[in-house]
Amino acid sequence: MALADSIEKHLVKSQNKCTLQIIMDMLPESDRKILQDSILKGLPTTTLVAALRSEGYQIAEATFTNHRNGKCKCPTE
Ligand SMILES: [Zn+2]
Repeated sequence: MALADSIEKHLVKSQNKCTLQIIMDMLPESDRKILQDSILKGLPTTTLVAALRSEGYQIAEATFTNHRNGKCKCPTE
């Protein structure tokens, strides 16, 4: 891994965000919007986690649930 990538990874880790938010930030804008809309529509967490995993994003259902319930470390607006 290139040093720049490694530094970036550590920076992301130290940010005040949960894994779901980090993944959202990495998604292309169109995908991010689809995911946000799906969350707002109330699609099941299991469905959305399965979709993210099939795209290669590793996320635990508990992480997703915590984000939905506002119990993750993301700052609330
Ligand atoms: Zn979060």
